[in-house]
Amino acid sequence: MAEQIAPGIFWLNGGASNLYLCVEDHGVTLIDAGMPRREKRVWAALAQLRRAPTELKHIIITHADLDHAGSTAVLQRHSGATVYASRETAAYLPHGRSPRHLPTIAHFFASLMKYTAVPTTVIQTIQDGQTLPILGGLQVIATPGHTPDHLSLYHPTTGVLFAGDALNSRNNTLQMTPRAITADMQAARQSALRLLHLNPTLIACGHGRPYKPAKEELKTLAQAFQQG
Ligand SMILES: [Zn+2]
Repeated sequence: MAEQIAPGIFWLNGGASNLYLCVEDHGVTLIDAGMPRREKRVWAALAQLRRAPTELKHIIITHADLDHAGSTAVLQRHSGATVYASRETAAYLPHGRSPRHLPTIAHFFASLMKYTAVPTTVIQTIQDGQTLPILGGLQVIATPGHTPDHLSLYHPTTGVLFAGDALNSRNNTLQMTPRAITADMQAARQSALRLLHLNPTLIACGHGRPYKPAKEELKTLAQAFQQG
């Protein structure tokens, strides 16, 4: 079941990763599509919100990992939604592939697990600095590091930050994604700092419960990230 985390914004626990729904009168936006075969959960969430599958108009993918892009193709096919992704992510989606960021053995197994390819014709590329007309303005922020293609989204009206895997809140602790699955640690650190400087009130990560930072907590974390 989807859980409301801010006006018009819902969190959907996809098991291995999180999905988010931005709900407006004229349509619904999905942020990340979860693992393959998660479409039933999305349709159920839409039904709960009294929305038909065809009311899913936009699917934004933070990065082309299996647990974020997995159900994109089937959700797109049954809704007719436009898929939004960075230029780099858009290059992986039509092949069902993910960027390299895992240790060699894990990468080998991961490369065997492709997701259903997303047709190029339904993908629209987005980039850093753009504001999408979703919930009155959703900012696109390039956040490379965990993977080179990664982007995050910030909604200044509510202070909700969709951080994908640029941050994670596993075990109710806000942290960077582990070094072992980070392609470029220096870029990841810079991206994380950039996100903390937005001073979000709620951080909706790809993994872990949406996280509400305590007052001054982000400043302390920024110092820790800088040193780590
Ligand atoms: Zn990832």
